[in-house]
Amino acid sequence: DGIRLERVREHVWEIPREGDMGVAARVLASEELLEQIGDDETLQQLRNVTHLPGITEPAVCMPDGHQGYGFPVGGVGATDAETGCISPGAVGYDLNCGVRMVRTNLTYDDLRGREAELVDALFANVPSGLGGGGIVETDRDTVEAILERGVDWALEHGYAVRADLEHCEDGGRRPDADADAVSDKAKDRGRNQVGSLGSGNHFLEVQRVTDIYRPDVADAYGLEPDQVVVLIHCGSRGLGHQVCSDYLRDIEREHADLLEDLPDKELAAAPAGSELAEAYYGAMCAAINFAWVNRQLITHRTRRVFERVFDADWEDLEMDLLYDVAHNIGKKENHEVAVDADGRPAAEADAVDRAERELYVHRKGATRAFPAGRPEVPVAYRDVGQPVIIPGSMGAGSYVLRGGANSMDVAFGSTAHGAGRTMSRTQAKNEFWGETVQDELRDHEGIYVKAQSGATVAEEAPGVYKDVDEVVRVSEALGIGDTVARTFPVCNIKG
Ligand code: 5GP
Ligand code: MN
Ligand code: MN
Repeated sequence: DGIRLERVREHVWEIPREGDMGVAARVLASEELLEQIGDDETLQQLRNVTHLPGITEPAVCMPDGHQGYGFPVGGVGATDAETGCISPGAVGYDLNCGVRMVRTNLTYDDLRGREAELVDALFANVPSGLGGGGIVETDRDTVEAILERGVDWALEHGYAVRADLEHCEDGGRRPDADADAVSDKAKDRGRNQVGSLGSGNHFLEVQRVTDIYRPDVADAYGLEPDQVVVLIHCGSRGLGHQVCSDYLRDIEREHADLLEDLPDKELAAAPAGSELAEAYYGAMCAAINFAWVNRQLITHRTRRVFERVFDADWEDLEMDLLYDVAHNIGKKENHEVAVDADGRPAAEADAVDRAERELYVHRKGATRAFPAGRPEVPVAYRDVGQPVIIPGSMGAGSYVLRGGANSMDVAFGSTAHGAGRTMSRTQAKNEFWGETVQDELRDHEGIYVKAQSGATVAEEAPGVYKDVDEVVRVSEALGIGDTVARTFPVCNIKG
């Protein structure tokens, strides 16, 4: 398709800087994954990203990358926070879509024979699907409190314990949140969605630990073979979606001049320091807080369900939060970048030095993966590195990784976020039939899937995803995220 890739080294491919590209772009992939990545518009989109004003260091596509709205899912791109810009399309519609893993002290043997009972109880008690309401009904004032205070709000209202906050990225609260920058329409969409999975790709999955790769790290994370864990994947629902649409519309209008110089309208961006850049950042942080509260309420409800099914207190079941991490997020972070003689960010070729700068790091379908020693990593894990959770599919393994020693140099402290799709939802519905997929998973693999609709199961069938083992192998080989443990699904509920 005309995009030239040069091999830099094993698993690193580069689209060299030319023409109006501000920087080069890089794809982190094996040859096998690269072939799948090259199948759609991903490479063109990645190349387009390098045109964003103030972009610094090569834009990166993760091994699970595929095309998205303007900016690849599985993409990381950073612009200078002073001279650059912030782009809603580079963060995505589902602000703070992310995953959290909850431990238990149950083993697979404790669960065997009760899968159907557990999956039914979870399905009946954790709201999912497009309608269905949330775990708490709220009014606009409460939504505002959630937007401003994040998981602190959940703690104040008895839906969280202190350790939940400590084991969440950013403590479950972005202090830059500005509820006033969120439209009433967005707030109203969020009112009956606090504590709800939503539809499609979002899920709650009970899993068992099948493999441990780094026993010392697994020990620090409290993981052991045969242990039952719960993986929760969802985001900010209609509220986050509305924030993204609101600001895309406003930014397209207000910064039309900037847009004219970009190769794709979907990359619309607000210049750093502009009113809209500030407002979008505040609103995005607020929606991020909303998503954390959403996952926290689902955790709270999941604990209740386990209490009933296993007839014990959740504390006695040791249902502690291992970690919660976002994979659609834009953040101001300090990173070392190439700079010119004046200390301003520069393309590699024009640079004379490297210096620390504050950046807008856009992670879309990419997971923060900070290495050991970083102050952002919770105290309990600081010596081993930040937990990274990479879901596979309802029929494949998922992984717990830890931030690798090379992540900061290679990918702004990031790694993959999943297996990544290989086919569209429409294509998937032609290829798979939901009930057949469910029956096969149950009869052949002992996996109990319950969904609001068969179409959802078809759209998310294991066959629509890339090979998660291969994605994780690349992450490990590059030293950006190291494998700690692998899990396998037992029960899964879907929207
Ligand atoms: P996304 O956030 O891009 O929608 O999805 C993240 C990743 O979750 C996907 O790339 C896919 O690998 C994984 N995934 C999708 N559905 C399921 C599921 O039902 N169970 C598990 N464990 N992973 C899933
Ligand atoms: Mn999402
Ligand atoms: Mn997601």
